[in-house]
Amino acid sequence: MFEVKRFVFNKMAENTYVLSHSNGDAVVIDPGCNNESERRQLEEYVDSKSLNPLAIVLTHGHFDHITGVAWVSQRYGVKTWMHYADSGELRLASQVASVYDVVMENSFTESDNYFEGEPVLRFGSIDIHVIETPSHSKGSVCLYVPDGDLLFAGDTIYNGTIGYSNDGFAPLIKVIKDKILTLPFSTMVYSGHGIPCTVGELRLPASARR
Ligand SMILES: [Zn+2]
Ligand SMILES: [Zn+2]
Repeated sequence: MFEVKRFVFNKMAENTYVLSHSNGDAVVIDPGCNNESERRQLEEYVDSKSLNPLAIVLTHGHFDHITGVAWVSQRYGVKTWMHYADSGELRLASQVASVYDVVMENSFTESDNYFEGEPVLRFGSIDIHVIETPSHSKGSVCLYVPDGDLLFAGDTIYNGTIGYSNDGFAPLIKVIKDKILTLPFSTMVYSGHGIPCTVGELRLPASARR
C-alpha cells in the first residue's frame, strides 16, 4: 500500500525519497536535487505515477538534504515541515556547501512549518510519526511510518554504520539503542546515504552481516 522511491542526488550522494500511498498521496523527504537532470528525474517519477505531492518533510537541515526544497515546494505548491532545533542549520547551509565545493542552486532559509517534540504528521493517507534523535544535528529526527513498517533515518544511522555526531557518540548510540533498535525487526530503514536495510539487520553484529 506504500511505495518508496529512492533517488541519489547531489555531490554528497544524498538519498531523496518519495513516499507514496497507493491512492497517489505522496510526501517528498529530504529533496536534495541540485541540477536540471536531477529535478527532471524527480518530476518524471511523480508524473509517471500520477502522484499528488502533499508535503516536504526533512530529517534535518544539512545542505545536502535541503538543496532541492525550494524547487519541489514551488513545483508542487507544497509546504515544508522540519524540527525547530535545525532552523539555524538552514541559514548556514550555503556556507557549509561551499566547503564541499557545492553551489546550492536554490536557497532555502526558512521552513513553512517547524515542529518540536514527537508529533504525528498527517498528509492525506500518510501518517508520519516523528522520532526525535538529536546528535548528528540538534534537530535530527527519524520519520516512522508504522502503517508501512518504514523508517526514514536521515543521517542518524546507516546500513553498516552510524552517523557523525556533533556532541560525542555516547548520546547518539543511546538514542539509536532506545528509539531505533526497539522498532520491529521487519521495519525497513531508509537512511540519508547508502542502501536500505531492516532494523533486524542493523541489530546484527558486523561479523554476521557479510
Ligand atoms: Zn547530515
Ligand atoms: Zn547527509
